[in-house]
Amino acid sequence: MTDPGGGPAASSTGRRILLLVGPVGAGKGTQAAALSGELGLAHLASGNLFRQAVIDGSPLGEQARVYMERGDLVPDDITIEMFMHELSKPAAARGAILDGFPRTVTQARALDATLAERGEQIERVISIEVPMEELVARVAGRRVCPECGTSYHVDSDPPRVAGRCDNDGTELQQRDDDRPEVVRARLEKQVRPMLEVLDYYDQKGMVQHVDGTQPIPAVTAEILDGLRDGW
Ligand code: ADP
Ligand code: ADP
Repeated sequence: MTDPGGGPAASSTGRRILLLVGPVGAGKGTQAAALSGELGLAHLASGNLFRQAVIDGSPLGEQARVYMERGDLVPDDITIEMFMHELSKPAAARGAILDGFPRTVTQARALDATLAERGEQIERVISIEVPMEELVARVAGRRVCPECGTSYHVDSDPPRVAGRCDNDGTELQQRDDDRPEVVRARLEKQVRPMLEVLDYYDQKGMVQHVDGTQPIPAVTAEILDGLRDGW
């Protein structure tokens, strides 16, 4: 898709809101971590927030757990409430990279409406594109830090010390829902709503499409180039 406007859309509050969209395993978390460091923005990952709520045993976690275990999306009303609360915290005052939210058009509309109430808007939607067959293999090798949420890969992005998080030394884990049968269920159930979300933003000319099969630093560089120069 080509966009005639191209340049970033400023919010009247000056807060930068970037969205990362892509299927399970596309590299959203990996790129969000790199970009948040580079741009000084908060990294808000809906999956990490839900997993933390499950660990904490909060009412929200109890509600979300059943859906997550099946590879289903958590219902929109629960998800929207949780995410909007996160976005209003001081950590996101300068702006945020949204990783994994919105995943349905209902969530996208709710986000747009909430931002508009505050005189804000999304600056850009970044679609990380990877063929389906590569995703299951990627997710099979994914290891995550239960403490800070950073993703690694046993082959393509290993930690400096095997099995330990580079940031805090915590022992890395394989997520329960990264088992191949659950990954396939997640891909089957989540791709259609994701394509609807992309279509919704494409119609507004807001999407930068990025080839997510490149090495991790090349994907980051392409996104940053797009943010500087338009795309
Ligand atoms: P992945 O990293 O594989 O893309 P996430 O960590 O983002 O997956 O999400 C894990 C699970 O959390 C999802 O399978 C889903 O159950 C739930 N979830 C995350 N984000 C959303 C969302 N925006 N709407 C509904 N459910 C969500
Ligand atoms: P998502 O958040 O979209 O579900 P992750 O960022 O967790 O995806 O990445 C999924 C897995 O693929 C992780 O193990 C990560 O280290 C690895 N990965 C991410 N980007 C790339 C890439 N460009 N090339 C190869 N592997 C990658």
